[in-house]
Amino acid sequence: MIRIALQTKGRLNEESIALLREIGINVSSRKRELLSKCDNFPVEILYLRDDDIPQAVSRGVADIGIVGLNEVCEKSQYPIDIIYELGFSRCRLSLAIPKGDEYNGVEYFNNKRVATSYPVILADYFARQGVNAEIEEIAGSVEIAPAIDMADAIFDIVSSGGTLVTNGLKEVEKVLECQAVLVASKNLEPQKQAILDQMIFRIESLMRSKGKKYLLINIPNSKIDEALALLPGMKSPTLLPLANKEWSSLHAVVDQTQLWDTIEKLKAIGAEDILVLSLEKMIL
Ligand code: AMP
Repeated sequence: MIRIALQTKGRLNEESIALLREIGINVSSRKRELLSKCDNFPVEILYLRDDDIPQAVSRGVADIGIVGLNEVCEKSQYPIDIIYELGFSRCRLSLAIPKGDEYNGVEYFNNKRVATSYPVILADYFARQGVNAEIEEIAGSVEIAPAIDMADAIFDIVSSGGTLVTNGLKEVEKVLECQAVLVASKNLEPQKQAILDQMIFRIESLMRSKGKKYLLINIPNSKIDEALALLPGMKSPTLLPLANKEWSSLHAVVDQTQLWDTIEKLKAIGAEDILVLSLEKMIL
């Protein structure tokens, strides 16, 4: 049995549970349970505040966890391994200042008061930049600190930037790009490592299928070589004969970004009956 720490509620919670379900792990939807077992995979889920997850994983209270990279970096006194970047809950930690202020570089922050819930990351950044600022640690509502004269500037999570605009601020330095990451205790026992490897295998299969479509076309036999040249394939596209002996069916996995371009080129050489299907997992 492996114990995984997930955020109790908040942005990460739903996407973390969705990920576990997509890799075939039944997560109970009973919200009140702080510790719950799954009936089809040797995993137990421990629900915690996201800022407690690095400590819980580092101390071995949980073996693995899903948490934002921002929390992993802020809690750097609790060493853990970052196993996999999961690609969701993307945001950045940025410095922002009142929108009317002129900004010519990071020296702006010398002798300024900067409010943040991420004092460790900010202190490290200022030290590297040679900036001497006063860091005001506050737990929440960081964006209003300049308006109530608690600080001159802020260092906070930015996603769309809408919250900054609402509070009359502008983003001037992007310090850390963040996303949800799968983390693990250092030196997991071999049985737990084996369960983690199984989870990583499933996650990789899922991630590989993201942004990909399964394309099926019918093509005159005389055009097969031209069609093959247009199609990528995992090893090579699948080619099947049709009942009509003059035609074949071609199947291939195509990147979504190239889908329409590929379809148009295939149509131009005579492809017909084009089907595009979603792809759930890609196991190589
Ligand atoms: P936005 O207005 O889209 O820039 O979002 C900014 C606010 O949303 C910040 O105050 C953050 O507290 C919160 N936020 C946005 N993205 C995340 C994330 N990935 N993890 C945690 N909080 C976030």
